[in-house]
Amino acid sequence: MGKAIDIAIVGAGPAGMTAALYAKRKALKVRIFDSGAAGGQTALAVWVENYLGFGRIKGFDLTQKMAKHLEDFDIEIEEAAEVTGISKKGKGFELDINNGEERVEAKAVVLATGSKHKMLNVPGEKEFYGKGVSYCATCDGPAFKGKRVAVIGAGNSGANASLFFAGISSKVFLIEFDEKPAFDAIYSKHVKEAGVEMFLGKQVVAIEGKKMVSGLKLKGRAGGKDESLAVDGVFVYIGMTPRNGLAKKLGLKLDEKGFVKANGLGESSQPGIFIAGDATGELAQVVVAAGSGAIAATTVFEFVKGLR
Ligand SMILES: Cc1cc2nc3c(=O)[nH]c(=O)nc-3n(C[C@H](O)[C@H](O)[C@H](O)COP(=O)(O)OP(=O)(O)OC[C@H]3O[C@@H](n4cnc5c(N)ncnc54)[C@H](O)[C@@H]3O)c2cc1C
Repeated sequence: MGKAIDIAIVGAGPAGMTAALYAKRKALKVRIFDSGAAGGQTALAVWVENYLGFGRIKGFDLTQKMAKHLEDFDIEIEEAAEVTGISKKGKGFELDINNGEERVEAKAVVLATGSKHKMLNVPGEKEFYGKGVSYCATCDGPAFKGKRVAVIGAGNSGANASLFFAGISSKVFLIEFDEKPAFDAIYSKHVKEAGVEMFLGKQVVAIEGKKMVSGLKLKGRAGGKDESLAVDGVFVYIGMTPRNGLAKKLGLKLDEKGFVKANGLGESSQPGIFIAGDATGELAQVVVAAGSGAIAATTVFEFVKGLR
């Protein structure tokens, strides 16, 4: 393990970038890779206004500031560098970058690969992203004050989002493909009392508008004519998909949704492999991702120094 670095970080979202900063400040030899560009999902947020200290800031701008912070500490974010494989080598690991372009040996690895929202895959969804289509009510919802909003997916997070909009919007629809909502029983009462209008057994087949979203086209599961619904916002809550390809290859323990199981210190089921951020399935927010990146890097420090 002579040429091995201490810590290889996979993913340069808020979790990976924070882990890199903490590792560097502990004088660990660190490299951080991202298959795309630095920033992760946060770079996609139109506005972020719940990351303390930054007021209201564009998600992209926030991640640029994070990347600059790393640069100031002489940490290079290696972009367009997908980690395509990780295997055990000696006491540590060997990472394969871009299918054989480079091989990197590391004593410990932090997987900060995040997750992605499932998409409806209907016409208009991509076109109106950021123009009425969103996947995050906490993030983009306040812009829909006094407007008509449809939340797609009546699971717990969809119900939760519909209650958020009930407090600020003029009309809220909760649309579910199944004949029954999947949310916990307690939400039935809350959703009803909040005046949320439920559509069950309805499938969104298109999102419509000119410059911004103006409506939805719905189809009944049992058939019948398409229906149109006038809305200004469409918030999609049909689940998250963890980016768990590497975790699966490593044989890490996953939960029933495919997120990597980790303890509170970021340790996975395999010694030397650590997890941070959305990949853990915890509350998907920047502050949580950053916090778990800090914890994982601190645990890695103890691991490589033989303290645990
Ligand atoms: C539209 C939108 C708006 C949001 N708004 C807010 C908000 O206002 N406030 C808030 O707190 N949170 C918000 N969130 C949630 C927040 O962005 C996430 O919780 C956060 O980005 C998670 O950080 P992460 O580092 O765990 O993962 P991610 O941000 O998902 O980053 C993971 C990174 O890993 C990289 N990666 C994956 N696999 C590999 C691989 N094999 N090799 C190399 N790189 C890899 C990906 O390219 C990605 O850059 C929003 C999310 C979205 C999608």
